Amino acid sequence: MHEVPTIIIGCGPIGLETAVELKRRGLPYLQFDAGAVGQQIVDFPSGTRWFSSPERLSISGVPFITATNEKGTREEYLAYLRAVVEQFDLEVRTFERVIELGHGDGGGFRLRTRTLSGLTHEFACERLVIASGGTARPRRLGVPGEDLPHVHRSLGEAHRYLGRRVLVVGGRNSACESALRAFRCGAEVTISYRGSELHERVKYWIRPELMAMIASGQVRCLLETEPAAIESDQVVLRSLKDGSTSTIPVDDVLLEIGYEADGSLFEALGARLEGEDRAVVHDPSTMETTVPGLHVAGTAVAGTQSRFRVYIENSHIHAKRIAAAFSGEPVPPDPVLPKLPES
Ligand SMILES: Cc1cc2nc3c(=O)[nH]c(=O)nc-3n(C[C@H](O)[C@H](O)[C@H](O)COP(=O)(O)OP(=O)(O)OC[C@H]3O[C@@H](n4cnc5c(N)ncnc54)[C@H](O)[C@@H]3O)c2cc1C
Repeated sequence: MHEVPTIIIGCGPIGLETAVELKRRGLPYLQFDAGAVGQQIVDFPSGTRWFSSPERLSISGVPFITATNEKGTREEYLAYLRAVVEQFDLEVRTFERVIELGHGDGGGFRLRTRTLSGLTHEFACERLVIASGGTARPRRLGVPGEDLPHVHRSLGEAHRYLGRRVLVVGGRNSACESALRAFRCGAEVTISYRGSELHERVKYWIRPELMAMIASGQVRCLLETEPAAIESDQVVLRSLKDGSTSTIPVDDVLLEIGYEADGSLFEALGARLEGEDRAVVHDPSTMETTVPGLHVAGTAVAGTQSRFRVYIENSHIHAKRIAAAFSGEPVPPDPVLPKLPES
């Protein structure tokens, strides 16, 4: 059993930022990730451009400088995260998932981890920070056929859709971006969305282009519809207006309907989660949960977000508050963030 004062679960942007803040104060810790550093961003389709401006994604004062001075891409941000890890000499134990959590006999916490190759290790710590994000698994539609092999949960490599009939399910940002990119790669694209119009927060450089393609009939958009069944070569769509059904021939189905958080790490320790989203109850001045010594950082705090409220931009303060609480400093004040235009 390896003992350490603090353990951080998650090497996403906010988990890393927490590590930097602890390291700056000379507070020892260990940090694990089930995947790579920034695994959620690794999973973005290649070339994805951030909605947030680079300065709002910057960690602990390290400038995120992009090649074009525009909003950064997935690849630029992954390179940036690697630079942060190297600059601060962060010890990241990647591909080592925390698989078991419990309370220590004399206080604190016990953890068991499993590496990619199947080795298990045990650790004990006095303080635990869970920065495990909010996208543990894709949401399910709950219709027959959604596990068929031609049903995908994210775009992946857009090139593969050349000459294929693709149904994109969803009307938020990821769905719209995927529809546009699959179309550009030569797919015949249909969008099915429950809403009466595409979501209001689609990136402002995606929305007008997609709307123009829909208006010109190059991309088909079936609003107020939802899949009732997915079959090998077609999808049965149901109208939410009158309940009637129609079929769409497909080669691929892209379910871009969001993700769910996994609250099990918090539940294992008896932390209180609340509401439909299962948000983590915590003291915002220290990010401590209802379990003494257990802190939460980043998007993990919000559980499954039905409407995005917590993202990288407004989570940087979590890292500072946790480090301040651990070192007995006064609570860092709320940052002043200019409001972004709704788009
Ligand atoms: C396409 C897309 C575009 C986005 N654009 C923006 C944007 O423009 N601006 C913005 O602010 N946000 C954006 N987001 C959201 C952003 O990616 C998240 O807010 C951000 O990654 C959250 O950071 P985090 O550190 O809280 O958690 P995450 O980045 O989700 O990191 C959590 C980490 O914990 C690890 N983990 C989970 N469970 C375990 C376990 N049991 N053991 C060990 N490790 C574990 C995961 O592998 C993961 O690496 C976007 C998201 C998507 C999908």
